[in-house]
Formats: sequence, C-alpha cells, structure tokens
Amino acid sequence: MIKRRVTKRIKVGNIYIGGDAPITVQTMTKTDTRDVFATIKQILNLESKGCEAIRIAVPDFEAVKNLGTIKRAVKIPIIADIHFNWKLALEAIKQGADQIRINPGNIGAKWKVYEIIASAKDYNIPIRIGVNAGSLEKELLLKYGHPTPEALFESAEGHIKIFAEMDFHNIEVSLKASDVLMTLDAYRLFSSKYDYPLHIGISEAGPPSTGIIKSSVGIGILLFEGIGDTIRVSLTAPPEEEIRVAYEILKSLGIRKRGPEIISCPTCGRCKIDLQALVTKVEESLKEIDEPITVAVMGCVVNGPGEAREADFGIAGGKKMGLIFRKGSVIKKVKEEDILKSLLEVISEYSGSSL
Ligand code: SF4
Repeated sequence: MIKRRVTKRIKVGNIYIGGDAPITVQTMTKTDTRDVFATIKQILNLESKGCEAIRIAVPDFEAVKNLGTIKRAVKIPIIADIHFNWKLALEAIKQGADQIRINPGNIGAKWKVYEIIASAKDYNIPIRIGVNAGSLEKELLLKYGHPTPEALFESAEGHIKIFAEMDFHNIEVSLKASDVLMTLDAYRLFSSKYDYPLHIGISEAGPPSTGIIKSSVGIGILLFEGIGDTIRVSLTAPPEEEIRVAYEILKSLGIRKRGPEIISCPTCGRCKIDLQALVTKVEESLKEIDEPITVAVMGCVVNGPGEAREADFGIAGGKKMGLIFRKGSVIKKVKEEDILKSLLEVISEYSGSSL
C-alpha cells in the first residue's frame, strides 16, 4: 500500500490537486495555439481519453487572445504555459486561464513575478512554479556548474520565497529534468521540506520506445515513495499516447483505475494459438472502453486458467482452441478462429457497449 505524502490542496478550475484529491492526469496540447479549431479539437479528444487538465503553450499575444475561446469550448481546466514574457501571463489570466505555469529560469526580474502574483491573487487562481533543468537561472548554473538536484530545488525555493513575500501560497511546483535520477533527487529534496502539491514527470523523456520506460521508472518511483499529486508523461508522440501511458503507470501501482487491464503471457513453446496477433486485436478492440476491467489472454493451460479465472474475462489457449472465462468460470470452449469474437461478445454483454 502506497502512503502518499501529505500536501496542501489547490483548486485548478473544476478539479483539486494535492491533499486527498486523486492523482490527476494531464498533458499539453501540441497544436499551434493560434489555431483555435485544431486546439479545441485536440483537447476534446484528450478529454474523452481521460485527460483531466490541459496545458497550452502561450508563445505570443496572438495565441493568448485565443485562450478565452478555447476555455469556453472545453470542460477541463486550462493551464497557460508562460515563458519569457510576464505580460502574457497577465493576459492569460484575464482570458480565464485556470492556472498559470511560469518558469523561474526565464521570467526575469522579481517585479515581473510580483505582477503575475498580484493578478493571480485578484482572480484567485494558482500558479505552478515549473522548474526545468534545461532552463535554470544563470546564477544557479554558475554556482553549481551544471544542473543538479540541489540547483533545481534552489530555483523552486527562490521563487517560493518571492511568492511568500506577497503572502501567496496558492502554488504547485515541478522540478523536472530529462535525467531520471536527477529528477528523483530533486523531488525528494523538495518534498522533505515543503508540502506544496507536486506536478511530477520526466522532462523531454524522448520517443515512445525509450520515453515510456524513463517516464514509467521516474514517475513510478516517485509515486511509490508517495510523491506527486498530478502527472504528465512527456513523449515525442501524440498527447493521447501520453495520457494512455500516464493511466497505465497509475494502474500498475493500483492508484487509479481506467479502461481495461490486459494480462497476457509472453508465449513459449507450449502455445498452440497465435497469441500475439490475438492480444493485439483484443487491445485494439477494447481501447475505447473506459470501464476498469481485467482481461487475461493466455497461451496455454499452465498459467492460463489460473490467470483467466482471476480476471473479469479471459481466454486460455489450447490446441487450436480456447476456453472463454467470465468472472472465474469457463463459459465456452471455442475454435481458435472464434476466440476473439466470443471474448468480445462476452465483454460486450457485460459492458453494454458494442465491440
Ligand atoms: Fe507458455 Fe503457457 Fe506460460 Fe504462455 S501461459 S508463457 S504459453 S506456459
């Protein structure tokens, strides 16, 4: 059982982050924010996949003017991602952003941060202090020589002190690096001293082939240590894939449930059906299901019946045939070519959706 570290709770639009709120899943749009239609379309699709908050890049004034229209068209909270120009933050707040993310490394003079805080106070919205190893303040790079967990921590702490001067505590913090061990130590250091809610993730984790592994290891370890209130998986891939992976991480640690969990064996010399093809088809057929069901797809009688019995639904392969299980009982014996159809029929009956 994972014991989550106690953090303060903040409200971001219609969700809570931190405290006893569920660990939420978020991502970032990858459309040009100036293209309102494409951005709204992407967010609506992400909402349907379980995205619970969306960050949007605000690179210029043309982009920021669209935030209000985007916000009105979607349900999930909008987080405006601001770099370099503090005036974009003020306009994003006016447009109705539910949270502002600023990067301490590039927002500039203290008075600019004060301006952003004053506006966030007026509109009663939280700010994320989003520290990134790739854009640390020059002084910290000089002091430490290169990004380190201590430098990430110090960057966040420096901004927390500025926020405290204005008695502003409606804060969330992230301390990301593309290096997993650096990220882990930075979050550990931070959470040993502060109880602000934490947005966690591995920055610039890479393409799916390696990025999913880095993210799963990094985010998984932090969550296991009880650290993290909202997660973002950063992949060079469509944002829907980031959401899928984020839920898989949460599911694998028993933190959240969403959609099917497929248990399938690696196959071996005992397998007498084309299990790899079958699993691919099962996964594809079930990808739109939101209900948390477990489906075991197993190659033979060694572990097959055991796993299939424990799952909500399952099949155990035999010699060119399969046994179909539902809630622990064998309900059918079918030919290999009918396994997929029969399994989907049984799941359909249960879920009420046509597969
Ligand atoms: Fe091999 Fe059967 Fe185990 Fe699959 S369930 S790996 S086919 S022994």
